[in-house]
Amino acid sequence: MSCEVIIIGAGPTGLTAALALGRAGITVTLLEAEPALTHDLRAGSFHPPTIEMLTDLGVGEAMHETGIKVPSWQIRDRQAGVVAEFDLGLIAGETPYPYRLHLEQHRLTPLLLARIAAVAPSVSVRFDAEVVAVTHDEDQARVTLRSGETLSAAYVIGSDGARSLVRAALGVGFEGFTWPDRFLVASTTYDLAAHGFTGAGYVADPDLWAAVFHVPDAGPPGLWRIAYPIQPEADEATELGEPAIQDKLATILAHAGATPPGGLFPLKYASVYKVHQRVADCFARGRLILAGDAAHLNNPLGGMGLNGSVHDAVNISAKLIDILRHRAPAGPLLDLYDRQRRPINIRAVQAMSIRNKRLLEERDPAVRTERLREISDIAADPARARTFLMDSSMINSVRDAAAIQ
Ligand SMILES: Cc1cc2nc3c(=O)[nH]c(=O)nc-3n(C[C@H](O)[C@H](O)[C@H](O)COP(=O)(O)OP(=O)(O)OC[C@H]3O[C@@H](n4cnc5c(N)ncnc54)[C@H](O)[C@@H]3O)c2cc1C
Repeated sequence: MSCEVIIIGAGPTGLTAALALGRAGITVTLLEAEPALTHDLRAGSFHPPTIEMLTDLGVGEAMHETGIKVPSWQIRDRQAGVVAEFDLGLIAGETPYPYRLHLEQHRLTPLLLARIAAVAPSVSVRFDAEVVAVTHDEDQARVTLRSGETLSAAYVIGSDGARSLVRAALGVGFEGFTWPDRFLVASTTYDLAAHGFTGAGYVADPDLWAAVFHVPDAGPPGLWRIAYPIQPEADEATELGEPAIQDKLATILAHAGATPPGGLFPLKYASVYKVHQRVADCFARGRLILAGDAAHLNNPLGGMGLNGSVHDAVNISAKLIDILRHRAPAGPLLDLYDRQRRPINIRAVQAMSIRNKRLLEERDPAVRTERLREISDIAADPARARTFLMDSSMINSVRDAAAIQ
């Protein structure tokens, strides 16, 4: 069986690419190993350019129906409280969506799938379809499923996540590093807005820093997700136990006077994961293309992993439409995709997410004081805050990529 594009992986990247290509009438087979869309608790923060892209694809309205608008975000010191507050209203002239929209990744993917079913009949979505081999030559790309079935297409997009088979088939390196500390994410229904938290906040502390996010969950009042580090030697099962989580949340949130009745935060979810900073050496070669986590991984501080993945999907889809519908030469356009998305990921996403983590966890008291003072000064100066927000909201990284020709 053959189609124009095979997409491997029905995460946010693969679904976005399938929708963008399918709307243009490109024949797409989207292959997902799992029996249904995955429901893991992962990313949940959309920046303005991503909201713009997803609105263009027709899912913006549905995202707003359940998402939480976050017009300002904070940096706090775990002892001293709020150090800086950034108001995205300062970039209202640059985007129709001057806020972060919080919506769990597993609430976006069904919206994308439903939109594909509604407007993209040329897309065939297959679950329980694990790909075990990928090859390509001058004429076509081929994939083999675990069932033994083979499919071919003009191009394969590997949106198959961190352990990408397509990246392995391309034989490209995945340089970078893995942080020694893991992240624990715990969720509570305890209302932190009542204690002065805006929908997104980062708490700096050399021992127990945290990211605090308000997400919709099943509906109002939503959930507060608190991500914090656990040390390399810590036992995961102990850290995931209720006493350890209660102790950590109490320590992180004490400065805001967040003390629930009975001293216990009502908990809903908790999970631990390893965090990497890695970028593939090449995003496209021959008939194979990488996008999303298959191409790059970063820590979640700043909420850029999922956003950058959607930006990849929209970028490569436009180029494949040009190649497949308008007979544009493939080589230069695939090369342009690599030149637009790879350096931007290294310069913007990797650099900012590493800087964000280092700001929160800085141990040297003098450096720490200086960095927090600097961020406070930036937030207090509207012109500097605006420049800062253009980077942190990823508007500049999308514009900079588009300017590369
Ligand atoms: C625990 C965790 C927490 C995170 N938290 C945040 C956060 O707070 N903020 C943030 O910005 N980012 C976060 N991220 C990152 C964010 O979730 C990813 O950037 C995003 O999921 C990337 O989407 P993707 O579609 O590229 O990959 P994925 O979502 O990983 O999707 C890949 C899909 O490919 C499928 N697949 C894999 N191999 C095959 C195969 N051989 N055949 C068929 N299908 C296959 C998988 O089943 C999966 O459905 C987090 C990631 C993790 C793991």
